[in-house]
Amino acid sequence: MRNAAWGFWKRAFSSAAIDAWGAAVDFAFPPECFGCHSSLSDRRHDTSGRQSMWCAECERRLASVAEKCCPACGAEHFFARFPQGRCSLCRGMKLHFDRAICLGNYHGLMQDLIVRLKGSHDEPLAVQLGRLLGRKLNRESPLIGCDLILATPTHWWNHWRRPSFVAGIIAEGVAQELRRPVANHLLRCLRRTKKQGTLSTRQRVANVEGAFAVTQPKSVAGRSILLVDDVITSGATVNQLAKILKRAGAVYVVAAALARGVRHVSG
Ligand SMILES: [Zn+2]
Ligand SMILES: [Zn+2]
Repeated sequence: MRNAAWGFWKRAFSSAAIDAWGAAVDFAFPPECFGCHSSLSDRRHDTSGRQSMWCAECERRLASVAEKCCPACGAEHFFARFPQGRCSLCRGMKLHFDRAICLGNYHGLMQDLIVRLKGSHDEPLAVQLGRLLGRKLNRESPLIGCDLILATPTHWWNHWRRPSFVAGIIAEGVAQELRRPVANHLLRCLRRTKKQGTLSTRQRVANVEGAFAVTQPKSVAGRSILLVDDVITSGATVNQLAKILKRAGAVYVVAAALARGVRHVSG
C-alpha cells in the first residue's frame, strides 16, 4: 500500500516535471507552423488536446474548400447542382465508395505542401496534415464512423525505391484524431500501375483494374472502412479499392484525402 502510494506520487511528479520542462522549452523555443514557419507562441490546442502545429491562417487556407463539393465524389464545382446527389463527373460512374471527403483542394498552400512532403519525405508534415484531415472527419463523424483506417497501398517496387509511404503516414495522423486502428496490411498492390495523372478517365479505370487485393477478407467483412490517400483526382484508384473492399464484405467505405485534384465549372 505504501509502495503504491509512493508510485502514484512519483508518477504524478514525473509527469508534472515533464510538462513543466516542455512548457519551458516551448517558451524559450516556440514551435514553428508547418505551413509558413511563423512562431506558434499562442499555443492553440486542437480537438484532441494537443497543441496545434499550424497557425490559424494556414489552417484556414488548408481546410477551406472554395466552392461547393459533390456529396458523392467530393469534386469541387463552381456552380453547384447535384441532382440525385451526383455531379456531372460522377453521374455516369458506378461509385463503390459511399462518400469522398477531402480536407481542401489541390492548389495554393495545399499543393505546395503535398509537393514538399512527397519530394522530401517529410514525415512529420505528413502526420500533421493527416491530423488536420482527421479533425475534419471528426466534425463529420455522425456520417463516417469507421472501424478501420486503410491507406492506398503502393507496389513493393515503388516502396523499395522510395521507402516513405506517404498515404500510410497521413493515415497515422488521421488515426491520432479518430482513435481508430490503422490496418494497412489488409490491402496489397499486386502490380505496378502507370501514373494516373498522365491518363484519360477511361485509361485510369483500366490502369487500376485488378491492381489491388484484400489480404484478409474476414477482417474486412462487416466493417466500415476509411480509405486514406494524399490526393484524389478522378477517384478511379479509391473506387477500385472500395470495389474490392465491398466485395470482401465491407459495409461502408469512405474515401478521404488531403486534397481533391479536380475542379469543374458546371454541376
Ligand atoms: Zn502558418
Ligand atoms: Zn460527383
